[in-house]
Amino acid sequence: MVNALSVDVEDYFQVSAMAPYIPRDTWDSMPCRVERNMDLLLDLFGENQVHATFFVLGWLAERYPAMVRKIVAGGHELASHGYGHLRATDQTPEEFTEDIECAKAILEALSGCAVSGYRAPSFSVGASNPWAFDCIAQAGYRYSSSVYPVAHDHYGMPDAPRFPYASRKGLVEIPISTARAFGRNLPAGGGGYFRLAPYWLSRWAIDKINREDGRPALFYMHPWEVDPEQPRIRAADLKSQFRHYVNLSRVEGRLRQLTRDFQWDRIDRAFHSELAQL
Ligand SMILES: [Zn+2]
Repeated sequence: MVNALSVDVEDYFQVSAMAPYIPRDTWDSMPCRVERNMDLLLDLFGENQVHATFFVLGWLAERYPAMVRKIVAGGHELASHGYGHLRATDQTPEEFTEDIECAKAILEALSGCAVSGYRAPSFSVGASNPWAFDCIAQAGYRYSSSVYPVAHDHYGMPDAPRFPYASRKGLVEIPISTARAFGRNLPAGGGGYFRLAPYWLSRWAIDKINREDGRPALFYMHPWEVDPEQPRIRAADLKSQFRHYVNLSRVEGRLRQLTRDFQWDRIDRAFHSELAQL
């Protein structure tokens, strides 16, 4: 069983939970860590013969074109995380369309590759804004990975399908993985849970999806999660600080273990048969 590994390429100061404390017009003056962290990830994946899908912010791609080319040169899939990391729920359909079309155009111009995947910031596509799926399809994406079918205070759509489904004509939604236990969906696809909970829980959940559901799992992470030295944002509320900084020093080791315990590939290959059904 080959699972899918994905990385949302944004820097530590662009995270949605930190947005209230860092005005966007100060982004350009923040010390960037993304190139250092991406080099670490690309080296780690290269050493372990892992290919992944990178959902890159248009804002970062414009400033770090060499990073975009390194992703493609490493044999990874280049995908879009939108331009400015605004939640879909905070935009009008027109603003959202402009953001995702702009990011796609930038990434395709820099890489010379077709970009077919999109992931909304903070999994902000759901029951309150079904129009977003229409915008994603119309912008020319073939798949979206914007739904995490769990209950969470900032995101999540617990009633959404757990496995890939056609959300619109020509558009497949590939949700982040959950494991079914105790009558509910448990998060099994990374993010903060991967840092907070012990490693064996992630391994158990991914294994359960592979064996009991007979499906590949989809895991996601961020470059700033392998960076314990990143500048601290002390203005943030304590809950956001805890969620962002907990166990950062453990992620690199856990990620190495994850690449040994399972087989990983890009989303477009791991979910090839689901995408072929379009
Ligand atoms: Zn993001």
